Amino acid sequence: MKDLKENRELLIYRSLNARSVLDEEALICLRQLEKGFQGEKYFEQWLKENGGDGIVLSDLLFEIGGSFVQIDSLFIKHDKTYVFNVKNSEGDYFAEGERWSTPAKKEMKNPLLQLKRSEALLTRLLQDKSIKFPLEPFVVFVNPRFHLYNAPLDQPIIYYPQLNRFAEKLNQKRGKLTGFHDMLAKKLLDSHVEEYPFLKLPGYGFEGLRKGIVCLKCEGFYQLLNRAFFICPVCKNKERAESSILRSIDEYKLLFPEKKITTDSIHTWCGSIKSKKAIRKLLYENYENLGNNRSSYFVPLSNSD
Ligand SMILES: [Zn+2]
Repeated sequence: MKDLKENRELLIYRSLNARSVLDEEALICLRQLEKGFQGEKYFEQWLKENGGDGIVLSDLLFEIGGSFVQIDSLFIKHDKTYVFNVKNSEGDYFAEGERWSTPAKKEMKNPLLQLKRSEALLTRLLQDKSIKFPLEPFVVFVNPRFHLYNAPLDQPIIYYPQLNRFAEKLNQKRGKLTGFHDMLAKKLLDSHVEEYPFLKLPGYGFEGLRKGIVCLKCEGFYQLLNRAFFICPVCKNKERAESSILRSIDEYKLLFPEKKITTDSIHTWCGSIKSKKAIRKLLYENYENLGNNRSSYFVPLSNSD
């Protein structure tokens, strides 16, 4: 119902990584985002295959009373909603009370505290909407290479080897989903906000980024193969010119939401294309043209996003 997609932050980091040289801190951030995304993707698939009847909502962001809360995964079953904080950490960790750290004493944010906060805010959201339906929160460690020494007992944690037993639990009590559950899912989706306003991003600007069309499959830059196709010199992936230019326009919008989309700006952004004609044509077909001839620019069609 709401499938997992790369969020804005990850897409921006990927784009900046292809088009500029990121510093060490930004690279670590990118790796963490990729890893987290892989973990969430794995768990979403796992839930769909093993969770039985239910509605899966992935990667939600709510603003509740001025606080933002990001939820990796919600699973609406007939009798309750499961709230999952999905972790793809690997390696050894030690728990000392509420402090979790690596053997090198590097601290990990305690996911149980994050989970408590998510549960509290979500409870409030449901109350605000006058919905009474129980929540059951869990931290899920989806990486088989994760181990927590001195792990606290009686905590809502599911480790990778316990996933099968958790599936049995999910499938034990059978019950039908009704219109109530659809309404609940719809209300949650309606409350979802698309953009977290306080993203910490590395600084960047149009001038400093490499121009061209980034390959769909790797971080190479396309070269023209013929009139209709580009080819990646690194991985040999081929992509239609139209779809790759439209993808690059999306990327431009993502990185520079304040900038106007003009034939010139997209022509510069896409680098390797000689003629502006192809770009103008695509913009006219896929965007709405505003402004007069001299300062004409494009905005998304009002019936699309
Ligand atoms: Zn490639």
